[in-house]
Amino acid sequence: MLPPLARPRRIAVIGGGIVGVALARALAVRGLGEVVVYEKERRLAAHQTGHNSGVVHAGLYYAPGSLKAELCTRGRGQIRDFCREKGLPYREVGKLVVAVDESELGPLAEIERRSRENGVPDLERIDDPARMREIEPHVAGIAAVHSPHTAIVDYAAITEALAHDARGAGADIRLGSEVTGLRIIGETAHVATPHDEREFDLVVACAGLQSDLVAKLAGADASPRILPFRGEYWQLSAEANDLCHGMIYPVPDPRFPFLGVHFTRGVYDDVRLGPSAVPALAREGYSWARISLKDTLGSIAWPGAGALLREHWYMGVDEISASLLKRRYFEKARRFVPELAMTHLAGKSAAGVRAQAWGRDGSLIDDFAVDRLGPVTLIRNAPSPAATSSMAIADHVIERFLGERTPAA
Ligand SMILES: Cc1cc2nc3c(=O)[nH]c(=O)nc-3n(C[C@H](O)[C@H](O)[C@H](O)COP(=O)(O)OP(=O)(O)OC[C@H]3O[C@@H](n4cnc5c(N)ncnc54)[C@H](O)[C@@H]3O)c2cc1C
Repeated sequence: MLPPLARPRRIAVIGGGIVGVALARALAVRGLGEVVVYEKERRLAAHQTGHNSGVVHAGLYYAPGSLKAELCTRGRGQIRDFCREKGLPYREVGKLVVAVDESELGPLAEIERRSRENGVPDLERIDDPARMREIEPHVAGIAAVHSPHTAIVDYAAITEALAHDARGAGADIRLGSEVTGLRIIGETAHVATPHDEREFDLVVACAGLQSDLVAKLAGADASPRILPFRGEYWQLSAEANDLCHGMIYPVPDPRFPFLGVHFTRGVYDDVRLGPSAVPALAREGYSWARISLKDTLGSIAWPGAGALLREHWYMGVDEISASLLKRRYFEKARRFVPELAMTHLAGKSAAGVRAQAWGRDGSLIDDFAVDRLGPVTLIRNAPSPAATSSMAIADHVIERFLGERTPAA
């Protein structure tokens, strides 16, 4: 591990999503330096943070010992306490992960094992369909695990509240400020926007879908590249709202880093189905109409493209067909909620695009990944559950790269 930097004074954070803003707040509130946040959009939480499922994950899926497992567990409690302190909605509606047939029992047992090792509180293994229906009356399956403390929140509102604290502690949050240059000169880093250039002792890039591009600005390796996966949602009609009381998830395909189309009751009591995982044709490709030749050709030319295609072509075809054909999407969900009808899918709601890191060998990187290049720290992979883990990711960066201990709560 690299030695921690001497206590920095001037710190830039690139990215006004929940990870960047949580970090800026932690730095400013602890008085670790003069903090400037650069966000290219005119509002905070404009990308992944404002377009997700709003789930506070309890740590069911993640490999024990991984950063995801550790920071999700820490972050979950921090988000809960922060919401309570600020009066923001935090609802423990619970999550049921349902195995529909025998082929899913092995992967379900692995989820149970990981959950127990990760310390998921009050986890229940269920083999009796009647018990399953006490929790979710419309579900069909042969076994399940239930996590009663998995919660839902509004991550955009949390980001605004974190930003309010950060500003209150002196952080300067600059909206509409795209970082277009990042040069390391000796022990400092120079951050350029179309408006100005400034020198910092430390820069932390939390740039989500652009994290590889920002890393390249600093002279870092182009790998891992970001591969954008669009998550499409369908809104359930009001008459179907009761089909799901909390969250109902399928057993995910362990070869793929996504959780599968699920039912989620949002904080404002709407029920959504999703998200899918469709390869997007642009980093900010929120629909099929948003195409970037640069992003798409860049992905096709990436050394890992052939390997990824060989391994996951079937999954790609399946996701694309479910995006184009409502019936395919509906069939995925009806497997575990048979009373669902096509007419209950009232319309597509806003999609999100996941920033998934992708290695040169074609592998999709599962764990969170953070790199350092002199005075620049680069968050290179922060997919789900990074919103849940955001405050813990901030502490991790501060502990590991600034050598500062997190004060006891
Ligand atoms: C469909 C979907 C569902 C998800 N569901 C969940 C969930 O239920 N629970 C959960 O915990 N996680 C979930 N996630 C993951 C979670 O949303 C992300 O992991 C998290 O929001 C990452 O936050 P971030 O700040 O790293 O990225 P972002 O929110 O994407 O923020 C990055 C910011 O950097 C800015 N930026 C980029 N380049 C520059 C530049 N050059 N200069 C200035 N600014 C720049 C961007 O404009 C952006 O605002 C989901 C994600 C998606 C897409």
